[in-house]
Amino acid sequence: MNAIKEITSLANPLVKDIKALAQKKNRDETNLFLAEGLKLIIDALDLGWKLNILVVAKAAIGNPVADKTIARALALGAEVVETSEKVTAAITRRDNPQAVLGVFEQRYKALTSIKSSGTDAYLALDRVRDPGNLGTIIRTADAAGVKGVILIGECTDPFAIETVRATMGSVFAVPLYHASEIEFIAFRQTFEGIVCGTHLKGAVDYRTVDYSKSPVLIIMGNEQSGMGEALSSACDKLIRIPQQGRADSLNLAIATGVTLFEVRRHALTLDERTP
Ligand code: SAM
Repeated sequence: MNAIKEITSLANPLVKDIKALAQKKNRDETNLFLAEGLKLIIDALDLGWKLNILVVAKAAIGNPVADKTIARALALGAEVVETSEKVTAAITRRDNPQAVLGVFEQRYKALTSIKSSGTDAYLALDRVRDPGNLGTIIRTADAAGVKGVILIGECTDPFAIETVRATMGSVFAVPLYHASEIEFIAFRQTFEGIVCGTHLKGAVDYRTVDYSKSPVLIIMGNEQSGMGEALSSACDKLIRIPQQGRADSLNLAIATGVTLFEVRRHALTLDERTP
């Protein structure tokens, strides 16, 4: 079993490697990413994510939950590093960093593994560019009970620190898929359910579709250019959220939230999960 390593220097190679995960190139090369916060790390472990390194600020040592997580991480074979707040601040580029950080392996699922049934809802995003939008969308999809989020084409990285932060832990809960536009359109042909694209030129009011009879696949367009032509043509329906006022369109994350909560209206109840 590994032992806890104490690191105080910003020049330590392990600290440099963790800091380097701020760049997509390094995340791609290592297939790793950084997540912040004890609760989120515990949730990730509960969901079976592979933890490679646990970084714990000295101040958290002695906290029973942190100590239990350290023991769990060591038992799982992860490296555990005890360090100063100066180091956690440098890694996260924050003045008030979380006391516990985790380096996890990235995980995408294969599109071919999707077997929709009942009224399962899936969300697909065409070239989403903004990390905050993507994080908010993943969190919202999780809250609406969406079964998976599919990233189509050149999307911003869901494992970037800003995105992981904005997901508030949902990045660990919602299965993620990525596909080229061609791969997605091939998948769409096999999807047994309705495929609805949200579109500013959509002829169908999004509230008039019955989402409670079959699986549903919702496609959202890019922030600047909307949905590409090939994807729009691949939809069964182009749905629109009616608007008033001067705004041309809704922000992508807002439009996704409004749409998903309508799609899932039949399935959502004020159950024990509501605070
Ligand atoms: N200029 C872009 C266009 O012409 O499509 C605006 C894109 S909008 C900021 C980003 C995405 O949010 C759209 O592609 C669509 O998926 C969704 N969206 C925003 N407002 C919408 C509305 N009123 N009805 C349906 N979808 C909407």
